[in-house]
Amino acid sequence: MQIIMLGPPGAGKGTQSKRLAQKLKVSHISTGDLLRQNEKEQTSLGKDAKDFMNRGLLVPDELVAQMLQERFNATDIKNGFILDGYPRNLNQAKTLEVILEKKQISIDTVIYLDTSVPVIIQRLTGRRVCSGCQANYHIKNMPPKKDGYCDQCNQTLYQRTDDNEATVMKRLDVYKKEVSTLIDYYKEKHLLVEFSADEDAGVVLQKIAEYLSGNDSPKN
Ligand code: AMP
Repeated sequence: MQIIMLGPPGAGKGTQSKRLAQKLKVSHISTGDLLRQNEKEQTSLGKDAKDFMNRGLLVPDELVAQMLQERFNATDIKNGFILDGYPRNLNQAKTLEVILEKKQISIDTVIYLDTSVPVIIQRLTGRRVCSGCQANYHIKNMPPKKDGYCDQCNQTLYQRTDDNEATVMKRLDVYKKEVSTLIDYYKEKHLLVEFSADEDAGVVLQKIAEYLSGNDSPKN
């Protein structure tokens, strides 16, 4: 199964994608995670991307496209994937189509996680990420068992530099400018399904899973 996860920063794309990927036994591909990994390893892409990311801006399309193209050369792709954080604009959607066409892969579903602004701000400013396995936590909604450490791998948790309120607002701004075109694009292709993502992550996941197994309709 090949799925695109769309939604504003803070919609829970990462959390839902990881859980769903585990459930469906497919790969989770997050362009944000890949970029942060490049930044951590100080690759030339990481160095080029860092400033854009810290300012809440999109990394230039051609840099992300090249990174994604390389990721799609890996063999795990053939088992299916959940693409999280890409595309972010129409140009990227078209680039993705070209990449997938060459590999004769098609997208089955585009999941859109609709989320309100106060929920987004509360989620992002309280988010903490594991420096080892990248698992997400939240200081109130999903605290780790041991303060400051990951439940799964015991590595330290950190706050992303772009998860402060000013940068979150900038990221939302950037997102709003592009999202409606993207939504229309996938609606026209009859691929888009919409879920309200203001609820608890477990509830949202269950609704998505039910939809994907053919037992339910979206946006309920
Ligand atoms: P995310 O982890 O998806 O919230 O992404 C964090 C940051 O990485 C974004 O604010 C962008 O700076 C950058 N980024 C992630 N995905 C993309 C993309 N598809 N295109 C451009 N920049 C991206």
